[in-house]
This record gives sequence, structure tokens and C-alpha cells, in this order.
Amino acid sequence: MKSLLQVEDLSVDVGDTRIIRGLNLSMDRGETILLLGPNGSGKSTFLHTLIGDPRYRVSSGRILFDGVDISSLPMVDRVKLGLSLSFQFPPKIRGVTLRFLAEKILEKKGLTRGEAARLVEKYSRILKLDYLLDKDLYVGYSGGEIKRSELMITLLQAPKLLMLDEPDSGVDVENLALVGAAISGYLSEDSGRSAIIITHTGYIARYVKAVKAYVMVNGRIVCRGDPDTLVSNIVEHGFERCFECEGMG
Ligand code: ADP
Ligand code: MG
Repeated sequence: MKSLLQVEDLSVDVGDTRIIRGLNLSMDRGETILLLGPNGSGKSTFLHTLIGDPRYRVSSGRILFDGVDISSLPMVDRVKLGLSLSFQFPPKIRGVTLRFLAEKILEKKGLTRGEAARLVEKYSRILKLDYLLDKDLYVGYSGGEIKRSELMITLLQAPKLLMLDEPDSGVDVENLALVGAAISGYLSEDSGRSAIIITHTGYIARYVKAVKAYVMVNGRIVCRGDPDTLVSNIVEHGFERCFECEGMG
């Protein structure tokens, strides 16, 4: 197995505030990992930094993806290299339908209109999105509808590294089953595909097999371990014990 992502001593600022503080993490191609941690610990900031959101400034350290230093690449180039992030709170866009955006992404990737339409149909069947395809993007969508639509948009980009920010938060059991099946189907189609999944509850792990789980506290990885053990520990004891493992990450 070859290293896919190597994050070395990463520090990230938003404005004048340091959010990520010397974070180290590496993962191999084909691995799926979970990222847990208390609210405000920097989990979303970390994924936004990996995708190249310009609001998050790398002040030290570097990010290697597939052996390439992407630390200062624009977002569009990172997406071309194979990173993709499903936003937790995507912007609502009037005048652009879900179908239009989905098909445009595929046409940009070189698919014909017919191929793009067929792939969109396939994912909208899996995620039960057919009735939403011609509605304005995220305008008036329920929480579950946003999660399913945003996941489709992300999967259509066919990322090597799929990044999901709380796909299991605020969704009912039926939506969770749809989202979980779509993610695990996507990852199992190609053994080289990888994912980083932020979760508070660990519910997504019922559908998607992760090899490792990490806990982030105060902008650093403080614990790592077997996903089932770590999630059940946190559900039972909160993050208290994670503070004791500082340095393990
Ligand atoms: P988590 O996802 O672990 O809950 P976040 O990464 O969202 O944590 O936030 C970590 C800290 O960074 C919080 O204090 C939050 O207010 C701050 N932060 C994150 N993004 C921004 C932003 N765009 N502007 C200002 N502060 C931000
Ligand atoms: Mg978050």
C-alpha cells in the first residue's frame, strides 16, 4: 500500500487565530478513517484546509497528496488531483438546479451529455434524489435532502480521497441508510479509494468500514485507535480519556 496523504506538522490560522496546531496524520491509499473530537476542536477547519479553502491559511507544515506538496495549490487543482469535500452547510444557489450542477461537473470531466445524464440518473436513484433534480440548489431542502444531494455532487467528482463532514449528523435512520449505502458502494467500487469521515456519533461506521479512528482536540490529533473501541469509549466516557492519550497521534 502506498501513502496517499501525509500531513506534516500542520498549523492553520483563521484571521489572527490559530486553529490547527502542529497536526500530523498520514493515511494509505484505500484506507478510510474516522475523525472525532469535541465541537470547535478544528475538524471542519482541517478538511477545509485540505481542500484549499482560502479562508484557512497554512502558517507552517505541509500537506503531501500522492507525493505532491499541495499546501499552496488552489482548490480547483486539488479537486483535479482527486480530493473532494462534502460541505456540512453548502450555500443555497437560486437559478442553478441540482441536475445542472451535477451534469456540468461530469461534462467538465470529459463525459458526453448522454453519459453525464445517465450517471446522474444512477446516483439520484441510489440516493432517492429524482424529485429534487430540477429544484434550485439546496433552496428549501430538508437536512436529509441537503446531505443526500451534497453527497451526490461529491461522489460524481470521483475523488481518490473523499472527505465528508458529519454525513450522519441531523439525518434520520432512512437517510442515514441511503447515505451510508452510497458511500460504501462508492468506496468498494475501487480498492484504491480513500475517505476521511468526521463523525460525532460513529453511526456512519455501521455502513462504512474504517481502519482507524482519530480524535482531534484543540487543533491536534491526541488519540488514534480501532474505530469500534474508540467510538464506544467516547460514547460512554466523552472525550475525557482522550486528553490522557496526548502524544499518541
Ligand atoms: P469543529 O469542526 O471541530 O467543530 P471548526 O473547525 O468548525 O471545529 O472550528 C474550530 C474553531 O475555528 C472554532 O473556534 C471556530 O469558531 C473557528 N473557525 C472555523 N472556521 C472559521 C471561520 N471561517 N471564521 C472564523 N472562525 C472560524
Ligand atoms: Mg465541524
